Amino acid sequence: MTARPHTELRSLLHGLEGKSYKAFKAVRGHWNLPDFVMSVDHVQGDPFADPSRVRVFLDPAFTGLETRACRAGSRATGTACLLARRFAQEARKSAGVKGTGRSGEIRMEAPGQEVLDQTAVRVGEDGSVEARFTVGLPASGRRILGKEAARLLLDVVPRVVRSSLRAQAFTPGEILLHAACNEDADALRETLDSRGLVAFVEDGAVLPRRSGVSQEPLAQGQVVPFESPPSMRVEVDLPNAGRISGMGIPEGVTLIVGGGYHGKSTLLKALERGVYNHRPGDGRERVVSHRAAVKIRAEDGRSVQGIDISPFIRNLPNGQDTRTFTTANASGSTSQAANIMEAVEAGARVLLVDEDTAATNFMIRDRRMQTLIPREMEPITPFVDRIRELYQALGVSSVLVLGGSGDYLEVADTVLAMKEYRPRDVTREAREVAAFLPTGRVREIGEPLGPLRPRAPHPSSLDPRRGRREESLKVRGTHELTLGLEDLDLSSVEQIVSWAQLNAVGQGLLLAWRDLMDGSRSLPEILHLVEERIAAEGLDILDPRKVGNLAAFRRFELAAALNRIRTLQVSVPARYLSSAGDF
Ligand code: ADP
Ligand code: MG
Repeated sequence: MTARPHTELRSLLHGLEGKSYKAFKAVRGHWNLPDFVMSVDHVQGDPFADPSRVRVFLDPAFTGLETRACRAGSRATGTACLLARRFAQEARKSAGVKGTGRSGEIRMEAPGQEVLDQTAVRVGEDGSVEARFTVGLPASGRRILGKEAARLLLDVVPRVVRSSLRAQAFTPGEILLHAACNEDADALRETLDSRGLVAFVEDGAVLPRRSGVSQEPLAQGQVVPFESPPSMRVEVDLPNAGRISGMGIPEGVTLIVGGGYHGKSTLLKALERGVYNHRPGDGRERVVSHRAAVKIRAEDGRSVQGIDISPFIRNLPNGQDTRTFTTANASGSTSQAANIMEAVEAGARVLLVDEDTAATNFMIRDRRMQTLIPREMEPITPFVDRIRELYQALGVSSVLVLGGSGDYLEVADTVLAMKEYRPRDVTREAREVAAFLPTGRVREIGEPLGPLRPRAPHPSSLDPRRGRREESLKVRGTHELTLGLEDLDLSSVEQIVSWAQLNAVGQGLLLAWRDLMDGSRSLPEILHLVEERIAAEGLDILDPRKVGNLAAFRRFELAAALNRIRTLQVSVPARYLSSAGDF
């Protein structure tokens, strides 16, 4: 499309003064501004509607970005997130154009502490930038404020762009720091597998957050920086930071024990978020976990559809078959079992569990309880009796926070004790205690864990229609999503970290439903195909309208959303039923 001159845009907007809001439609299209090209992709229907969508395209000469900061992949992503955060900040400060509804608002979907691939700002290898944001075209009631609109699009937007999307807006080295930091985090995560590690926490890392509702680091003076136990310290060479040291958590079963308030949950939370990279200054820049680490918790009340939880739960009092367990209202223990089996089905390699959010009867069943309530009367095979098998038979490691039960001491490969926010390696002492004080428990497994039989979701069980719309998706906050008429509560899916990420998950659901679910394709195959498409074509495949509000997600969060759809129906394809997979 050819771009029209900005002088034409100004006179057009001035001419719209006082007209009915609909006349703003004429603003659509490409405009040649003095410094860059601006595209108005969508014009809102009224001042209260979703604001208008705008993109700007910036030349390398204008941005002044060094190519070192723009290398495709990790570096470009780190730089793009920095620019997006700054744009959003400058846009918030820019208020000045006023009017009805969202008049004058300039808004970009800004990344938080996590650095994810996203669509708000894209940085090209040559230093070019494309930025996507929304603008509330100003009106008084339903009458266009044309002069204000001209000021907004031709003065305010360019000012925000100049103060955020070019090298000059940053201190020397700042951009490269963000690019390099992100590259290092990816490199660090890459090395985990070959070292037999599931996570790495750098010496000196700042794990605690400012508050329960903030992901910003706790203020420096109040923090005990992380310090690896000497026996677990490993050194890693990174492309930019050089040699660093920190604690490597090995594969297998790891316990984090210690007194209350000594920092156990804080460490586990850092590992949960360590599946993503963090911005410089976050404190967790070099705290990384395996990409396939999944937080597991109890989630009573959730809907569960046709998952095999029989390794953990059998012989329910209502006679229900737990090999294809379905409920509209799971209990603490059945929900935790379902969360584990679904994560394993989706390809999890590490399970992260905190006793604070686990179901006690799922985690443990001690000798006295085994004696009082005989095995025939207890449907639950506790996690403690399967945790080693999960690792040995399926290669799934676990990291558990436990303060209250010593029954796990003998199933652990590694035991860390948190004391005043510092971990100690107490593996040897734990073994001694376990030998000296036997639990007297009997291991309560039935059949051994076999290969998993993945489920195939039925496309007809999802209905994204709402009113006249064929596909309706609404996203509220970071954990609520409405697909068609169905509300999904994802408040217990703790590794969803931003609105844009949840929005992309929702779009991913629609993509899977539209193109990939056929009633026979298994869920892992579908997840793989979604990932493959995004890897090949970018996040824009999730929404063809060139929006700026998508951020990368993992297959686990997509699976979690699908698994919580209350109308979902699944079946195990015959090709899996005939195989030996039998728990
Ligand atoms: P636990 O799970 O062992 O009971 P938490 O991890 O919940 O303990 O931590 C208790 C409190 O200590 C929290 O307020 C947390 O922010 C704070 N905290 C955790 N780690 C540190 C640290 N390294 N330095 C300072 N405060 C910390
Ligand atoms: Mg805790």
